[in-house]
Amino acid sequence: MKSISDLVNRLAPSATFAMAQKSAELSAQGVDVVNMSVGEPDFNTPDYVKEAAKKAIDENYSTYSPVLGYMSLRKACSDKLKRENGLDYSTSEILISTGAKQSLCNAVMALVNPGDEVILASPCWVSYPEMVKLAGGTPVVVKAGIDQDFKINAAQLEAAITPKTKAVMICSPSNPTGSVYSKEELASLAAVLVKHPQIFVISDEIYEHINFIGGHESIGQFQELRDQLVIINGVSKAYAMTGWRIGFMAAPEWLVKACNKLQGQYTSGTCSVAQKAAEAAFNGPQDDVEAMRVVFQRRRDLIVKLAKDIPGLEVNNPQGAFYLFPKCDSFFGKRDGDRVINSAEDLAMYLLEVGHVACVGGTAFGAPECIRFSYATSDEKIIEAFRRVKETLARLK
Ligand code: PMP
Ligand code: GLU
Repeated sequence: MKSISDLVNRLAPSATFAMAQKSAELSAQGVDVVNMSVGEPDFNTPDYVKEAAKKAIDENYSTYSPVLGYMSLRKACSDKLKRENGLDYSTSEILISTGAKQSLCNAVMALVNPGDEVILASPCWVSYPEMVKLAGGTPVVVKAGIDQDFKINAAQLEAAITPKTKAVMICSPSNPTGSVYSKEELASLAAVLVKHPQIFVISDEIYEHINFIGGHESIGQFQELRDQLVIINGVSKAYAMTGWRIGFMAAPEWLVKACNKLQGQYTSGTCSVAQKAAEAAFNGPQDDVEAMRVVFQRRRDLIVKLAKDIPGLEVNNPQGAFYLFPKCDSFFGKRDGDRVINSAEDLAMYLLEVGHVACVGGTAFGAPECIRFSYATSDEKIIEAFRRVKETLARLK
């Protein structure tokens, strides 16, 4: 009999890409959709990065790179960690992957055994629980609602730890909530984790540069955690390079070696030309990063103002990333004609099909009471989208 493996059958499809695809299908039929589903910067990759890629092609960077990534790029990552985060990582503690997504998945696959538990600071990105399931582990969701600005506290973390806990995954600035953990909040989580040296902290810092509080705080600053820490970062968000697929991990050398073994069998070193581009991004002038950050902050102010003006939506004030994650459960049970809204996913489909605005229901992020809008789009589109959202939601009685 022809059938898909149990492993793949256990996985949920990516809800972010699923909504992006539905939005694209509707657009292809000629419908004018404002797409706020998938989260990726709408800017072009900076010119100096593109030039470096063109040069790499001309210089014949066309063969396999080392599986770990080019030494020069690992050095650029090591320098970046020192310069921007004050962290000391040697090149042997850095591994380059096909996006931060592969770095995260590497870390999970290299650490988690079947039956191990991985604590997810939730709401969290859709791929975390699925990666844990891929490794045969059990995701343990620790939830923080909008009343906690979607951030878990030390007591919640402590209560979730069991003898089976292998790792904790956190993301700040956060996808999907835009919340940013302060230095004090990270310190209190670190104080719990340091008492459990067998537990790893996988810290996803891919939105590091898109933060509106004046600077990034990494849990890596608590040096007592160093042997338990895996830092994930990359170029996708800061340098508008989602399609180039370059991410990295900074971690103890033995873990990097394990991930090297994984990549050696699974993907080989990632794209040679994209690695040279990423090297230029890290080593080059950082003005474009700051310019994009300023635009995101302006858009954040705009979207929060527009969302607060919509009866029935409750919003936090996101301090980073480019997502708004309103609580929308006041609409559950309401109807527009025959159409009844029973969940955030129903609401997202209703907004897409009737309002022609694409967003993502919160269930896949661990928050079935919320919906996610990506505001990585122009001011005009944000204004038009929220005009439609307001009008469409007002039809629900
Ligand atoms: N972590 C989070 C929280 C993300 O939102 C994303 C973007 N999809 C990633 C990791 C993966 O980034 P990359 O494009 O580098 O794989
Ligand atoms: N980070 C983006 C998002 O969450 C990209 C899509 C994905 O990788 O899931 O929408």
